[in-house]
Amino acid sequence: MIWSLARVLFFVAAVAALAFGLGLLIETGEGVRIAVAGWEFTLGPVVAAALLVALVVVVWLGLRLAGLAVATLRFLAGDETAVSRYFDRTRARRGQAALTEALLALAAGDGRQAAERAAQAGRLIDQPVLTTLISAQAARMTGDRARATEAYRKLLAHDPARFVAIRGLMQIKLDEGETETALQLAQKAFALRPGHQPTQEALLSLQTRAHDWTGARATLRAQAGSGALPRDVWKRRDAVLALQEAREILDPDAPIEAREAAIAANRASPDLIPAAVMAADALIAAGSPKKGARILEKAWSVRPHPDLAAAYARLAPDESPAQRLRRFGALWAANASHDETRLTEAELQIAAEDFPAARRALGDLPTRHPTARTLTLMAAIERGEGGSEAAVRGWLARALAAPRGPQWTCAACHTPHPAWTAVCDSCGGFDTLDWTEAAGGALPAGEEMLPLIVGTPAPRPTEQPRAD
Ligand SMILES: [Zn+2]
Repeated sequence: MIWSLARVLFFVAAVAALAFGLGLLIETGEGVRIAVAGWEFTLGPVVAAALLVALVVVVWLGLRLAGLAVATLRFLAGDETAVSRYFDRTRARRGQAALTEALLALAAGDGRQAAERAAQAGRLIDQPVLTTLISAQAARMTGDRARATEAYRKLLAHDPARFVAIRGLMQIKLDEGETETALQLAQKAFALRPGHQPTQEALLSLQTRAHDWTGARATLRAQAGSGALPRDVWKRRDAVLALQEAREILDPDAPIEAREAAIAANRASPDLIPAAVMAADALIAAGSPKKGARILEKAWSVRPHPDLAAAYARLAPDESPAQRLRRFGALWAANASHDETRLTEAELQIAAEDFPAARRALGDLPTRHPTARTLTLMAAIERGEGGSEAAVRGWLARALAAPRGPQWTCAACHTPHPAWTAVCDSCGGFDTLDWTEAAGGALPAGEEMLPLIVGTPAPRPTEQPRAD
């Protein structure tokens, strides 16, 4: 308080002195005459003005020194923080000034200046998010990608700035033309803020460029969900993308490698299975069953499905069960432990009448994931191995009550369909069927399966010696 008053008084005195000096200068016209202790100086106006400036500097320095002296005195008197506070306050002020200049330079498009000021501010004040962000943007502005990457990486550690940092890194990767990494970063940014429109757009464009139609459709759905896209526009674009993903697999002019790549890129697509089946059937009809097999094997490696197995069987309709088992080995190879692989193998082993092998193929499926299909297969195995009628009926009773397992279900109205169709029978939705497991819901047409297993009791030689 006293210090502030003293400063104000000092300043008033300094201004008064300045006014007095100016008055002298104007009065004398050609110079200033100063008489001190019998000596007399005559100064020209220029020299007088220079002296005046020097006086001002001396006054300012005196003020600073006085401030420091007061802080030191207080420090000596026991106030430890006075000195450090004095310096801290000065530092903070200079830091804020540098930060302001950095922001202004950034806004003015002067990347170099912004980088320098941000670095200076970073040394003076503790505002890492702000200074690092300005450094990163300034570096990007000047084209220094390495420095910008480094700054954005640093930003990743600060939680509120994570999204901005990921987006920044994505932009850099886009500038560098590394679309694959950019796509991964865009997906991360999208996961953090699914409703952020520029991110949605960047992700969508990267996904279409990578021919990831499934991903693009998911992004499109998010765009529609966040209100960024009118519903009819979304429907139209979604239909185009849906056709796109199927078209690449179906395209008869595309080389087989491109079609395999399309299958891999659309691994999550519900249309993958029907598209692969259609493509394989077309190739079989065109007389290239080997290419058809490759399509189905690739599709099985990304998403095993009974429709694929059925199409694979159509490749050689007249072979014996043993031949079929051997041939299917190539289909299963890429996904040997998948549930669908085990179920298909069990079915083929039953057809080949090797029931212990069928039981081995199923493994722990009847206990781990008892669906109607698994339990019906167990009934068939039981029957084939010559189990009692009661045991067979036991498995079938369980099958009737068990969940149906995955089936083609409409994502819009949840109606299950016996086979894939482009348009839902129930609600008319286009391309809404997905291969999913409906919650609950016992086998609707369970009784239809009973005569298949119980109604055709093929007398087996192993059954004859049984004496019960
Ligand atoms: Zn429907």
